[in-house]
Amino acid sequence: MSETSSSGPGAKRLEVRCPSCGDMHLYSLDNPYRPFCSKGCKAIDLGAWASESYRVEAKPTSEDLLDD
Ligand SMILES: [Zn+2]
Repeated sequence: MSETSSSGPGAKRLEVRCPSCGDMHLYSLDNPYRPFCSKGCKAIDLGAWASESYRVEAKPTSEDLLDD
């Protein structure tokens, strides 16, 4: 058995999985980047989302234009 649930009344800890890196981390209201674990992960997620929207148009590479 790999997973063991810790039984500890009083320890109110909520762990969530970071949507970006997939790591489990403590969910805290003090974390401005929740549900992400860190600022970096939030930036990565937003960047990925933005790049997705920018991928609607395929641009030819400069190498194709240099084909003479
Ligand atoms: Zn993360």
